Amino acid sequence: MPLYEFHCLKCEKDFEKLVLSSSREIHCPDCGTPEIEKKFSVFGIKSGSSFSSSMGGGNCGSCTASSCSSCH
Ligand SMILES: [Zn+2]
Repeated sequence: MPLYEFHCLKCEKDFEKLVLSSSREIHCPDCGTPEIEKKFSVFGIKSGSSFSSSMGGGNCGSCTASSCSSCH
């Protein structure tokens, strides 16, 4: 199951939520606003290498650069 980490832009709360459908709008469980920012998959962090390979082969999970030398 895809578990994602979100950050609420309104009340600054971080929360994790299972996303069963990508078309379904996510709301903050605290204030209810849809104004949230999707961070990254918790599964991606746990599996490590598979996450970076899905990002284009780089070692850096926080950006889309092809190598970490270009983003640090
Ligand atoms: Zn909120």
